[in-house]
Amino acid sequence: MTFSGWKRRLAATGAALTALAVLVPGAQAQDKVLNLYSARHYQTDEALYQNFTRATGIRINRVDLDDAGLLARLQTEGRSSPADVILLVDAARLWRAEVDGLFQPVKSKILDERIPAALRGKDDGQGSQWFGLSTRARVIVYDKQRVAKKDVETYEKLADPVNKGLVCTRSGSHPYNLSLFSAMFVHLGAAGTETWLKGVTHNMARAPKGGDTDQIRAVASGECGIAVTNTYYLARLMRSSAPADRSVIERVGVVFPNQADHGTHVNIAGGAVARNAKNVESAVRFLEYLASDEAQGYFANGNNEWPAVRSVKLSNPALEAMGPFKAETVPIAVIGQNQSKVQEILDRVGYR
Ligand code: FE
Repeated sequence: MTFSGWKRRLAATGAALTALAVLVPGAQAQDKVLNLYSARHYQTDEALYQNFTRATGIRINRVDLDDAGLLARLQTEGRSSPADVILLVDAARLWRAEVDGLFQPVKSKILDERIPAALRGKDDGQGSQWFGLSTRARVIVYDKQRVAKKDVETYEKLADPVNKGLVCTRSGSHPYNLSLFSAMFVHLGAAGTETWLKGVTHNMARAPKGGDTDQIRAVASGECGIAVTNTYYLARLMRSSAPADRSVIERVGVVFPNQADHGTHVNIAGGAVARNAKNVESAVRFLEYLASDEAQGYFANGNNEWPAVRSVKLSNPALEAMGPFKAETVPIAVIGQNQSKVQEILDRVGYR
């Protein structure tokens, strides 16, 4: 067999073993295994999981899915779900899972002390349903050669006729956008939100496609003039030494929208213990680890997110360069409750 043939076989065996471990709950308790369902899609998280295993001896079986896929899988699996810990990257999805009873309350002195109450799920006295672990702002980037900063200083301006043919975003229904629009619903009301999103749709340079980084690159290439992105994608480019990324960053300007009024929209990535977790003790231990200085440092310095734990020191030039800003304070439950109304508006105005 050729070398690459062996590599393929080894890879296939590894995948089969991982699948087996997930399917045999009885073996997990003895083996100290934690089944993690994660919607985090960030390379730097690998080190986090390895450090946890090194420190505790608890092996992590990871299932990677996006938020929607992950929640659907939990619903389908029901009581036989092997999931112990759930990581999601959107506040409204955390809220949805809480409402749908997919989590179980966690009482932990460490988590209650370290994670601010505003970044925790509902607590009926049994403990919080979920814990925010990091935050990210949704900002506007623009082509400094074509767009004036004053024309993009608020989210509302994305719909201004002055920006006709300039705006690019990923899909309107992506959780990052749905949550931003659901927060805007609080400021603009139902009719105002519809008018605004219709205007944004009219201003598009192209039909929505790709992820946030694709939008930033498209602004730098001149295909788009204005885009919306989570801060960590931008910070990743700011810290890159690749010449292509350097020229992207030189060309784009950044605005934290609505600093003069309600503040910039901030989203939350967080974790919870699954309703039917078999390894509850290990699951809580893992969440506590994610709130530790070491893990919070990874979120901040590895993946360019703001740590949920206030005392954690940043040593991230990109986050520091973005500076302090006024963040929006719409309650997460409200953002969650507005999502279906916003999706109906998106369908009506043709914002795919
Ligand atoms: Fe992301």
